[in-house]
Amino acid sequence: KQTEAELLALNQDLERRVEARTAEITESNERVRLLIEGASDAVVTIDDKSTVIDWNPSAERIFGWKRAESIGQKLHTLIVPERYRAAHEAGMARFLATGKGTITNKTIEIRALHRDGHEFDVELAIWPVKAGETYTFSAFVRDISDRKRNEALLEHRNEQIRIQRDVMVELAQIDKSDFNEALPKILRASATTLKVERTSFWLFSKDRASIECLHLLLGPEQTPDLTSVGLRLHASDFPEYFHAIQDAQTLAADDAVNHPATTGFSEGYLKPFGITSMLDAAVWFRGRSIGVVCHEHVGPARTWLPEEVDFASSIATMFSLALEASDRAQAEAKLIRLQADLKSTLAEREAILENSSVGMGLLRNGCFEWTNQTLSEMTGYVREELIGTSPQTIYPLCEVGPSPVGEALDAVEGGQTFQKEFPFTNKSGEVIWSRLATRPIDATAPAEGSIWTVQDISERVRAEQEILGALEKARELNELKTRFVSMTSHEFRTPLSTILSSAELLQHYNERLPADEKVRLFESIATGVQRMTQMLNDVLVIGRADSQEFDLNPAPLDLQRFCAQIVEELQPNLRPGLTIEYSAPPVGEFLLDEKLLRHALVNLLSNAIKYSPKGGRVTFMVEADGDSVGFTVSDEGIGIPSEDLPRLFESFHRANNVGNISGTGLGLSIVKKSVERHGGTITVDTRLDKGTTFRIIIPRGKN
Ligand code: ATP
Ligand code: MG
Repeated sequence: KQTEAELLALNQDLERRVEARTAEITESNERVRLLIEGASDAVVTIDDKSTVIDWNPSAERIFGWKRAESIGQKLHTLIVPERYRAAHEAGMARFLATGKGTITNKTIEIRALHRDGHEFDVELAIWPVKAGETYTFSAFVRDISDRKRNEALLEHRNEQIRIQRDVMVELAQIDKSDFNEALPKILRASATTLKVERTSFWLFSKDRASIECLHLLLGPEQTPDLTSVGLRLHASDFPEYFHAIQDAQTLAADDAVNHPATTGFSEGYLKPFGITSMLDAAVWFRGRSIGVVCHEHVGPARTWLPEEVDFASSIATMFSLALEASDRAQAEAKLIRLQADLKSTLAEREAILENSSVGMGLLRNGCFEWTNQTLSEMTGYVREELIGTSPQTIYPLCEVGPSPVGEALDAVEGGQTFQKEFPFTNKSGEVIWSRLATRPIDATAPAEGSIWTVQDISERVRAEQEILGALEKARELNELKTRFVSMTSHEFRTPLSTILSSAELLQHYNERLPADEKVRLFESIATGVQRMTQMLNDVLVIGRADSQEFDLNPAPLDLQRFCAQIVEELQPNLRPGLTIEYSAPPVGEFLLDEKLLRHALVNLLSNAIKYSPKGGRVTFMVEADGDSVGFTVSDEGIGIPSEDLPRLFESFHRANNVGNISGTGLGLSIVKKSVERHGGTITVDTRLDKGTTFRIIIPRGKN
């Protein structure tokens, strides 16, 4: 009984404990159930045959299947996408066989199937529960499609930002020196990156009253639309838009039709083209907006993302850079062109100056700073010698009068021009007639320097002198002719009248004339003829001399004998009261032209005789030393007036004191020429009414 009582007590105790335990478990189950019911995640439990045994309200919401519909169904037919079902079953089988699973007891992300057939991303945690010999599996499933979508969007935007950055880097590297070439490239890059239907670039007019379309790209192919180029929008028609793009960097109109800045385009532009969203960015240049790049989206309205707005702004900046680069390139090109022009102009000028026939120099502070080649050629000084030196240097000697250079320097210092013609001797000793002209660069600022030009006028001066010489010759010739005519008319008349009168006497009184008278008449005819012949010979000789055919034929001549012979020949010409005194020491032989010398000496001696009408003494002296031989003829006759001396040796010239002493005036010119042919000289020393001395000196070496 005691044992029975103990057993009873034990049983009662056990029952009590079981009861308490059961109550505990029931309470715990209820807690778990409430937890599962209220969980925001789907909680799904299946048995080892994949049959759904629990399906909470969140599971109903997430998968679209009601609890009643799900319980008893195979799980994979409900929520596993077709393509994963085999893998699901294999995984289950593997777990049951091994007790190990690849997806149990951790959180994984997989795709799930909704009742309506669409797939979505879920986060899944499975834990197996061992129940006796088998298992049940419970899963917490969370719908993460929103998170996934956001992640994808973020990833997409990151990708877009990366692309935009790459595009900007690429655009930064393109050659922007020609804006018209860079424009379509930048525009195309922007259109492609932002994926818009219509992308265009517009430029403000100068007065900012309108914008003009420079380029428009259309469609996904970004085809340039040439018909829109030149299209113009006026500020007066779209004031709000103009206001917005002039002030803002960017204008992002998600709903362009209703956006205050773009609504003005609705009827005429946006709606006809189906444009819903616009993204414009102002292009700035030198502190002000000068144009706008427009992106127009066609289709369902588009929300411009901040990075897209930023990108549009960067594109606008790229246009600014391109404008600046092309502006700079143009300026540089212009500068280079200008420099080249200047250089070639300078080279041309330089060539002109260098090749000018006029010598030129630029003078500053009294010295040459620049000279041309011609000046060097004229003066004989190289440029290095001229630069830095005074013009006094190039005019070292002036042939006539003082150098005018000082005068020229004074003139330019006073801001005046100066000009003069004068000869100078250049470095090589050549005499150059020059025409110097100086001119200050700026008359009001003489310190700026002056231009000096030197023209070689030697040719002209020479020509002038030649003309003057020719004129003088002609005048002389004319005078010669006059003298010849007057001489012949006078000198020929005398013998002709003698001949005529003698002939007439002979003709008319032939029989009555005594014989000796006849002889005298014939002799006077002969003398007249001889006299005329002599005169004609002299004229011929002088004519030959003038035409330089006065030939010199020197031969050894015994002077002593030769002179004595001449004196002898002249003896018959001496009238009473006149004597010739001849003195000659033995001088030996000389190389002389006998004919020319005879002419000379006969003339001098005849003159001495002829011009001593009152008689007196004629002395004739021959002397010789080692160098020369001298002949002196002196008389005590009428002498020669000093005014006739300068022209004494000219042909046909006769002194005014000859009275009725006849002569042609040719003798002395023949004497002078004969002497000069021998290389000798003739001098005269005379005193009126006292006498005259002619002296010839012929050097020995010359004959
Ligand atoms: P021609 O010699 O041809 O017969 P001419 O004696 O008059 O003529 P020139 O011998 O050339 O000519 O002399 C020129 C002039 O010089 C002379 O006419 C004369 O006036 C002057 N004359 C020359 N010799 C003398 C002299 N010895 N005394 C004075 N007068 C002279
Ligand atoms: Mg004479």
